Formats: sequence, C-alpha cells, structure tokens
Amino acid sequence: MISNSEVRIDRQIESDDPILIAGAGGFIGGALARYFHGLGFTRIRAVDRKPLPEWYQRVPGVECLSMDLSEKENAIRAVQGAVEIYNFAADMGGMGFIEHFRVECLRSILINTHLIEAGWRAGAQRYFFSSSACAYNTDLQKDPKVRALKESDAYPAMAERGYGWEKLLSEMVCQEYWAERGLETHIARFHNIYGPNGTWFGGREKAPAAISRKVIEAIDSGGHGIEIWGDGTQTRSFCFIDDCVLGIDQIMHSKDLIATPINLGSSELISINDLVGMVEDIAGVKLTRTYDLNAPRGVAGRNSDNTFIRQVLDWEPLTPLRTGMERTYAWIAQQFADRKAGKRVVKD
Ligand code: NAD
Repeated sequence: MISNSEVRIDRQIESDDPILIAGAGGFIGGALARYFHGLGFTRIRAVDRKPLPEWYQRVPGVECLSMDLSEKENAIRAVQGAVEIYNFAADMGGMGFIEHFRVECLRSILINTHLIEAGWRAGAQRYFFSSSACAYNTDLQKDPKVRALKESDAYPAMAERGYGWEKLLSEMVCQEYWAERGLETHIARFHNIYGPNGTWFGGREKAPAAISRKVIEAIDSGGHGIEIWGDGTQTRSFCFIDDCVLGIDQIMHSKDLIATPINLGSSELISINDLVGMVEDIAGVKLTRTYDLNAPRGVAGRNSDNTFIRQVLDWEPLTPLRTGMERTYAWIAQQFADRKAGKRVVKD
C-alpha cells in the first residue's frame, strides 16, 4: 500500500479550471481550499453561509463568497463556470448537535438538491458529495466491540435519525444524477474527521476537539476533573484532516468511484476513555473522570472497514491517531491562549 507522499493523481483538469468549494468557511472545505491552492489551482471559488470574518480559514488568492446555498438562486450563482463542485455545506456538528437539531440537519438536503441541479445545468464535469458514517444502519453499531462498517452496510437502511437520513438520500440523488443525467458524481462517507482549524468549542465540536479543550481548561483553571459524555466505553475511529483532503482528491478523480459511496476514515479504533488517556498523556496530566450518562453519546461503536478503499486506491488514511492528536492538541492550546488574550479565534 502506498503512503501519502507516494500518491499520484491524474485529475484531468487544468490548473486554471474553476473549482467550487461549497461550505469552505467550515473545517473540511477550508482545508481543501488551502490544499488545492497549494497545488497551484488558480480559480477556486469558496462559498459559505457564514460571514467572511467567521470562516475558519480564508486562503489568500481564493475567491470567497458569503451565500446561503439552500436558496436556489444562490446555488445557480455559485456554480457558474465551475468544472468541479465539492459540496461540504451542511448544518452539522458532533453528537450534541445532531441529536438535538434534526430539523436543521435534514434541511441540508436543500443545499445538495439545488447545488447538484445547478451544477448539472451549468455543465460541470464532476460533483463531490460529503456523506457520513452516520448513513450506516444503526442496528449494526450497538456493540462497542464493533464489526467495522463496509460500504454495503448502509442497506437495509436504518440511518442515524435526521442527519444520517439526509446523507443517505443525498447520496441517492448523486447516484441518480449519474445514472439518468450523466453527471459524474463521487461520494465519500467520512468517519470522524479531526485536526487543526475546526470547531473546538460552542456545542458543535466533536470528541477529539472537545476532550482536548476540556483537558486544557482543567489545566488552566487548576482543576483536576474531566467530564466525559456517556460511560466512555463507546468506540470510534478518527481520521486526520490531511488524510481526508488527500482522500477526497483521489476519490473525486477515480474513474472506478463514480456514483459509488466509499468509506474515508481511519480503521484505528479507540474507546473514548482511551482517547481521554491519550490526550492526558500528550498534556502531561492525569484528571479525575466523571461520566454524564444522560449526555448524547451516539452509537456504541463504529469503525471504518477499509477493504474497498485499499482495493481501489491502494491507499487508506494511515496518520496515527497519536500524531494527529498531538497536532490538534497543540493547535487548540494555542487557540485557547489566544482567546484568553482577547484575540480572534475560530468559533462555530
Ligand atoms: P463544518 O460545520 O465545519 O462545515 C460546514 C460548513 O457548511 C459550515 O461552515 C457552514 O456554515 C456551511 N453551511 C451550512 N449551511 C450552509 C448553507 N445553507 N449555505 C452555505 N453554507 C452552509 O463541517 P465539516 O466538518 O467541515 O464537514 C463538512 C461536510 O462533511 C459536511 O457535509 C459534513 O456533514 C460532512 N462530514 C463531516 C464529518 C466530520 O467528522 N467533520 C464526518 C462526516 C461527514
């Protein structure tokens, strides 16, 4: 299997072909804008509903527009001239968000529906949809000693309420635009992406960022405790952002992956208790744990089966969790210090 530095991608587009990144004010879209800009693409259009000062990253040389893409007219404006469209725009967050705001999650269907129709009408060559492991059948995720989820496990469908069903239906929209209308679509099911430049406080943050922040807060306040959501036995895998953007680029440009959902995640499984232990170790502290058994905890266990991605791309996300968490922790610690000093920081 090849490493990140050995990956070669035949993109079949020119460096001055326009690329649209929807949801680019967010975590993954912002990282992809930076990545493509770094590769020399000169006409990247980044769109997000958030006002520009609230974007996690604004890459110099990238056109940044603030528009609500759930409105049809805005979707039509956004796709003008775009050869490739990447859709990361969605109302989402960690378990705390998706268990409490199902209507918001479901309404993201408007974004994908308008964007893909506008893209097809405007003659885009390729369309990428960011799906999620939450699209998988929840009945298969009741045991912390998980069987990793393979792509066919989405059906028979029993997705996560709200958020997961939106993803599953939008996947199907993408598949039918290829089958009936010939628009080349690509679909990745992300499994818990984490890393610097994402939400780390405010209610939408995911476990790696939330745990890092709680440890930093405990150190800062001189406290000795940390509160964990659930009983800590729930297991997950976490995929580092650098692996995620490289995976997106490969999936979008693979002829073997047209209209074919594929896992993009790490297969390094860890319990939340062990993740807390890892962050404590990075921070050099040991905290007393309390467990909030009424807090949202999500499914009991979830891991990514990477058989298919290894087979098609000869690659999979391999950044060790410890390496990625060290970088994430260092970034959040800096953000925390900046916020304390009254400087502007990333917020949700
Ligand atoms: P994010 O919340 O950081 O980014 C999403 C962005 O979409 C936000 O900046 C938000 O303002 C924007 N947005 C929301 N509604 C919009 C609208 N109507 N018009 C324009 N912009 C709008 O999330 P992320 O972590 O970067 O996730 C990107 C995509 O990947 C999402 O579709 C998400 O569901 C999917 N995903 C992410 C993960 C993960 O672990 N981060 C896991 C599975 C799937």
